[in-house]
Amino acid sequence: MTKLVIIGAGPAGRFASMYGAEHGMDVTLIEKNHIAGKCLNQACMVVCALNEVARHIDDSQNMNDLGIIQSDVKIDYPKICEKIRETQKKIRKISEKETTSCGVEYVHGTAVVDAENMRVIVNDDDEYEYDKLLVCTGSSPFIPDIKGIENAFTYKDILKFKEVPEDLIIIGGGSTAAEYAHIFSSFGSNVNILCRSQFLKMLDDTEAEEYITSNLLKNTIVHENVEILEITPTSVITNTGEIKGKVFNATGVIPNSEILDGIVDININKAIEVDKHLKTSDENIYAAGDVIGGIQSTPVSRMEAITAVRNMLGEDVVPDYSMVPMTISLGYDVSYLLGYDVSNIGKQARTPGAPGPGSFWYTLSGKVGFTKEVVDNDKLISNILSISPSSNVAISYMVKATKDKQTVNDFENFIEIHPTSDVIEKLAEYFSRYE
Ligand SMILES: Cc1cc2nc3c(=O)[nH]c(=O)nc-3n(C[C@H](O)[C@H](O)[C@H](O)COP(=O)(O)OP(=O)(O)OC[C@H]3O[C@@H](n4cnc5c(N)ncnc54)[C@H](O)[C@@H]3O)c2cc1C
Repeated sequence: MTKLVIIGAGPAGRFASMYGAEHGMDVTLIEKNHIAGKCLNQACMVVCALNEVARHIDDSQNMNDLGIIQSDVKIDYPKICEKIRETQKKIRKISEKETTSCGVEYVHGTAVVDAENMRVIVNDDDEYEYDKLLVCTGSSPFIPDIKGIENAFTYKDILKFKEVPEDLIIIGGGSTAAEYAHIFSSFGSNVNILCRSQFLKMLDDTEAEEYITSNLLKNTIVHENVEILEITPTSVITNTGEIKGKVFNATGVIPNSEILDGIVDININKAIEVDKHLKTSDENIYAAGDVIGGIQSTPVSRMEAITAVRNMLGEDVVPDYSMVPMTISLGYDVSYLLGYDVSNIGKQARTPGAPGPGSFWYTLSGKVGFTKEVVDNDKLISNILSISPSSNVAISYMVKATKDKQTVNDFENFIEIHPTSDVIEKLAEYFSRYE
């Protein structure tokens, strides 16, 4: 029986451990902090929880403005944090049970690799020998080289706030910056976002950037092409002046690769180098998830880790990075694709959003979002950008259909639930009628 040791029980390590155990491997999963990693304990689930409260406030204010309800919503931030922690604790128990019930041995402790003797040492004490090792140690906040950066907090500190900051400065121009700007501006903060270059440049769409800034982020000013000179405990000094507020460093993450320092090849961005089978420069060591850099998302991390285990089991498989659906969770979801085929652009269509769940009460003010779709010369969808309430769900199923080679013509007989506000399928139907 192959002895597989996995370090890190985030989405990558945990899913790989269950897959390995279910396919006849003897699996030990080692975690130094909490099961389910950054995703449950610091990142995705924290954003999800806070965003739901923010949306509740947005909807309540909108209905007040329309005069159809009268309410005065006040939030209790420490209570929100307490309830998030309580929920995380509950999910951790479920995750641990799910993992161990597959036959995985779950060990709590900090792992160190002794590659020469093919073993992992936990808490300087216990030893676990391996035939194959999978390193899924994830990533941590990137700390840029800026004077006074120690005065800035990161996503790891969000649940420690005692109150909602009156003025918040977010450094960074990616999803995390946008998501926390939406959350805290809905909670009442005045937000300034400072970007070194362009805000949300991964969307590659100025209309989307403008729509988000004007409609989905209130009390928020976005500053692009800003140089930060210093961060003080109460402000940021930039090349254009000083801005007051509590400072949030949202400049991205850096791989936790030090565990394999001097053992395998690590690139200049600190990512562990792997081949297409997720194998490192050591024959028996594989790596997956945030620790190898690339696209940082929970589903991609899981896919990579499971692919690594399948290769250990003798298959010859590679991760599929084409058309990866991504979402920025704001008042509406902003869904887009990474890894789409830019060479085969074909025809593009755009439509405003439709009234339906999540958007009906924003129709009078014209805030219904929009969707753009590109269909290639083979009538396959090659790109989607959608700002709509349910785009995050719709986009992944559209990608699956496209990868299964369903053309827009296959959507002629698509039956949806009505009313739905999502327009991704409707655009495909439009293409099938008018292409
Ligand atoms: C603010 C924020 C929001 C995000 N939101 C989303 C989202 O909505 N959707 C999405 O898909 N992705 C989101 N992501 C990205 C997602 O969280 C990561 O891509 C994902 O968690 C990576 O999984 P992983 O298993 O590779 O690493 P991690 O989740 O980082 O887990 C690594 C684990 O390894 C453990 N570990 C490290 N070193 C050792 C050691 N020596 N011994 C033992 N254990 C060790 C760590 O304690 C950790 O638990 C977000 C990221 C951030 C920062």
